[in-house]
Amino acid sequence: MRIGIPKEILSEEKRVAATPETVMKYIERGFEVVVEASAGEGISISDEEYRMAGADIIADTARLFEESDIILKVKQPVFNQKLDTHEVNMLRDDGILITFLHPATPENHDIVKRLRDKNITALTMDGIPRISRAQRMDALSSMSTVTGYKSVIMAADKLPTFIPMIGTAIGTIKPATFLIVGTGVVGLQAIATAKRLGGVVKAIDIRKDACTEAESLGAKVVDFDIPQELAIGKGGYAKALEKEWLEIEQRTIAPHLEGADVVILSALVPGEIAPILVTEDMVSRMKPGSVIMDVSVDQGGNCEVTEPGRFSRRLGVHISGIQNIPGRMAVHASWLYANNMFHYVDNLFKNGVETLDLEDEIVNSSLVTHRGTIHHEGALKAMR
Ligand code: NAD
Repeated sequence: MRIGIPKEILSEEKRVAATPETVMKYIERGFEVVVEASAGEGISISDEEYRMAGADIIADTARLFEESDIILKVKQPVFNQKLDTHEVNMLRDDGILITFLHPATPENHDIVKRLRDKNITALTMDGIPRISRAQRMDALSSMSTVTGYKSVIMAADKLPTFIPMIGTAIGTIKPATFLIVGTGVVGLQAIATAKRLGGVVKAIDIRKDACTEAESLGAKVVDFDIPQELAIGKGGYAKALEKEWLEIEQRTIAPHLEGADVVILSALVPGEIAPILVTEDMVSRMKPGSVIMDVSVDQGGNCEVTEPGRFSRRLGVHISGIQNIPGRMAVHASWLYANNMFHYVDNLFKNGVETLDLEDEIVNSSLVTHRGTIHHEGALKAMR
């Protein structure tokens, strides 16, 4: 079985699905690996390093797709301007594709249907369940860890002030105040990073367990007494709040927002659009020069006036709707992703290099298309 690693062509995407370290591991398992020339450019890994790890290097993208049984990517297939064709067209009929597909998102429905029509076995890295056995494959958590860290660094760069308390001969400069809304994977990493930079950190989540974790990292938890049966659903995941409780939450957040220098918005209920927790009116009462990082932007955002894809300035406040934050920290994001991918592929072929295990719970929940049908529940529900 031949694994192909194409260069990512989505604009600003510097990550790559395999590193020389994981190429070696695939070869040890009995796979052959072919890497597109300059695929590692965005993370400063040369073709020679991939070659030394045992990969063949191919400059011809179409040939790489044609000759690979399995294509490993980071982002969903897109149109290749240079070759004037879509990456889906280049995939071999009946082949295997593993990448982030976000199949429930309406913009990706056309791709999912085309993968089905080409009999591709497509598997999505965002479908891996957050269970103990899948921890090493959990690329979503890895990318959220990167995002939590990097969003604080990006906010720090916009901020016209110090973050830590600074003592000087002319007086003491007060530390910056952070408000973290949603303390899941992104939020907890943001708390840890903001604390390390010397910020004063407040946090809010609707799940008590998430609040306890935030507290253990040194955040002061904002009091929001929501009955847990209204906040927690199946499997201990957060549940979408009724309108009445969302309004109570907005009122709870409002005074803390006014005092904040940086707000990280990362509240999400899996499979839902992001709840609006910060309205335009609330933004208008924030300090001029303060920063909102709305990382839930792909699900619509937690702030009413976030503009997807860019940093905007509204009512004196910088608001980030930047989407691909892990792509801006490509070396470690690729290292994490490539290793998650290796463990995923290793599990998928645990019965031998030629035998896909589609019965496995992890595989089943990440399977998008197979033998001409769409399997993914979320995609099917969203297409109805
Ligand atoms: P997660 O599921 O681990 O955390 C989400 C948290 O939000 C949970 O703790 C949940 O309890 C909480 N929550 C739900 N509703 C809430 C509410 N009304 N008020 C307060 N908290 C609430 O998810 P995650 O991995 O931390 O991801 C968070 C967001 O970041 C998602 O929208 C994800 O898509 C996004 N993300 C963006 C990027 C990017 O590049 N922009 C990268 C990774 C993740």
